Amino acid sequence: MAFNHEPCGLRRLAGARLLDVPVTSQLSAALVSGRADRVTHVQVLAARDGQPVDWPGWVDPLVRDRLRGAGIAAPWAHQAEAADLAWSGSSVVVATGTASGKSLAYLLPALTAARAGRRDGGTTLYLAPTKALAADQLRALDALGVPDVVAAPYDGDTPVESRDAARAHASYLLTNPDMVHRSLLPRHHRWAGFLRSLRFVVLDECHTYRGVFGSHVAQVIRRLRRVCARYGADPVFICASATAAEPAVSAGRLTGTEPVAVTREGSPRGEQEFVLWEPPTDARYGEHGVPVRRSTLAEAADLLTDAVVAGARAVAFVRSRRAAETVATLARGKLGEVDGALAGQVAAYRAGYLPHERRELESALQAGTLRAVAATTALELGVDIAGLDAVVIAGWPGTRASLWQQAGRAGRAGRGSVAVLVANDDPLDHYLVQHPEAIFGQGTEATVLDPDNPYVLAPHLCAAAQEAPLTDDDVALFGASAGDVLSTLVAQRMLRRRASGWYWVRRGWAHDLADLRGSGGPLVQLVEGATGRLLGTVDPARAHAAVHPGAVYVHQGETYLVEALDLDEHVAFVRPATVDYSTTARSVTDVRVLDVERATSWGAARLQFGSVEVSSTVVSFLRRRLGSGEVLGEDPLDLPPRELRTKAVWWTLPDAALPIAESEAPGAAHAAEHAAIGLLPLFATCDRWDIGGLSTARHPDTGMLTVFVHDGHPGGAGFAERAYQAAPTWLRATRRAIVSCSCRAGCPSCVQSPKCGNGNDPLDKAGAVRLLDALLSDAQLDT
Ligand SMILES: [Zn+2]
Ligand SMILES: [Zn+2]
Repeated sequence: MAFNHEPCGLRRLAGARLLDVPVTSQLSAALVSGRADRVTHVQVLAARDGQPVDWPGWVDPLVRDRLRGAGIAAPWAHQAEAADLAWSGSSVVVATGTASGKSLAYLLPALTAARAGRRDGGTTLYLAPTKALAADQLRALDALGVPDVVAAPYDGDTPVESRDAARAHASYLLTNPDMVHRSLLPRHHRWAGFLRSLRFVVLDECHTYRGVFGSHVAQVIRRLRRVCARYGADPVFICASATAAEPAVSAGRLTGTEPVAVTREGSPRGEQEFVLWEPPTDARYGEHGVPVRRSTLAEAADLLTDAVVAGARAVAFVRSRRAAETVATLARGKLGEVDGALAGQVAAYRAGYLPHERRELESALQAGTLRAVAATTALELGVDIAGLDAVVIAGWPGTRASLWQQAGRAGRAGRGSVAVLVANDDPLDHYLVQHPEAIFGQGTEATVLDPDNPYVLAPHLCAAAQEAPLTDDDVALFGASAGDVLSTLVAQRMLRRRASGWYWVRRGWAHDLADLRGSGGPLVQLVEGATGRLLGTVDPARAHAAVHPGAVYVHQGETYLVEALDLDEHVAFVRPATVDYSTTARSVTDVRVLDVERATSWGAARLQFGSVEVSSTVVSFLRRRLGSGEVLGEDPLDLPPRELRTKAVWWTLPDAALPIAESEAPGAAHAAEHAAIGLLPLFATCDRWDIGGLSTARHPDTGMLTVFVHDGHPGGAGFAERAYQAAPTWLRATRRAIVSCSCRAGCPSCVQSPKCGNGNDPLDKAGAVRLLDALLSDAQLDT
């Protein structure tokens, strides 16, 4: 067991102390018992007292009384501070931990205003990233039952009569950015009464607005502010965020305003033991004969089982619906061996359940008739289950912000709790459980988004012009690149320039041009050939690799075989199948440098950031036996290349500076590329699947060894830019991740990649370390 001697820099963890005795609580002792060799670190996070303050004087007495009736004796300091700022007219972002009660920060001003009526007090527009969260919020408002507050939902399921009533009477409208984009803004004249009185816009869980989706939402909000201004309204933004670095900067980019950040934690929490856990190596063999680790899900199911046996209430967080079912099934089986009655006390809790099903599970968990759930992150998004004893996190959840959100679910009324992070078999997870300072010694990440991306901006400028002609004064609102993008749209005959402004001149709805949650192009539909049933959709960027003819596609736990992919109609036809193999696509990729925007030299090495064109063709696929990974065969495919113009960061080393033989260069560069992509999510709040890469011993545009890491979205999403800024730290962490892996020649924990288009060949682990040493020998601090 390793202990962290570094001082802890995270505010929430202030006072975290070194653990010099065996784990203190019986619960963590029960979890660790017999498996102490799997624990790489234990961190004890100190308890914190709450700081209650008086109710602000301006709060409506009835609102205050109803909140008291709901068990809130007084607000915490951070809630009152944020509410005061919003009431006084300042936009605000409150970025504090899970279960710190951020909702009171917006409920106090919004309900007080709503009590005075639409005209005198003002209306509130509440935006949640998911329908489920908005529904939960509405339920909480209804339970509070403050007289004269007309709260109404507005989403795709809202019937027409209720929409009319909401327009006419709502003082507190609960919806999502998609509805604002598709419905409220294009028909804004029908919402004139509501918008004229709009006083507060609440952006709940606003850290989820990141990457390309976040950039789209930022432009929707700019359109909203412009339309509001036409009705004489200038709403105050109240953003609620998970703990994040620079919340005022991110929320400012999101809203185009200058919000004040409230970050002090005024709510209490109990002590938490945080355990880092690495599953043991399994005897089975993976790609290229390397040992693989025991499955994270099996390990999580064991921990959940032991928590229940020890009498605890627990949740295991997993990445997919299928994984939730798997963990719940495994845990039920194991509990059944101990005591038949216990088996019924574990359930899966995941997205896709109906609201009443979710509520039944939530109340059973709170009542104690259900003791454990295996959950997808549906639970992470604000849904109200705090007060568990143990949280098992199966695999790094992507960001420290998510990690704290999930861990924050444990700890009932100031009581102690345990959190366990079980590492996945990949470079990032392996690095993190071996380097606790990267988790406990760092603040949370900033939320990355880039509203200036011209691919994102263009459709919103069209939509805005259709909502009301764009004037010269409007251009600044949409950011620095708006002028250029408008010229392009005029040249493309999407907009026409007249003396009074820019006009939308096409037929149809301009907002159809923007796909808020997609990544360019129509989604590919998965259709069951025999029945015509629509099973789901696949992102167009992934379609060639995921649903090519012959691909095995797993959808919500069911296995299908793709029979045909119609690229013109964007449909993949599938049939249910039971097969004993999985498929992996192989591809060839080219990257062309279009434009260098920033560059820096580290001795002979050079680091650059700019625009690139990535062309990739899926050329074949491998069939691999399930379990063993043994390759059964390779089948050729005939698919057209896909072209992507995006942003990339790349580094080069001239031949004279190469620390390795020419023949070793391809494998070394390839291994370094994989590990670097694996580690980037730690620095750029992206998913490994949001980015791609290419490495080559000699690139035609640079004439030397080059490694590219590029954004996976048209126009970029801000991730490569972030990588450029953090390059020395990022690449040093990459080197450490490779060095600290105990494998001999490379494994999924260091240099192998699950999404490699070349079947992880060639890879040279030792060469990658020498290459990174040469690259970093003259690296300066972050650029
Ligand atoms: Zn390894
Ligand atoms: Zn690769």
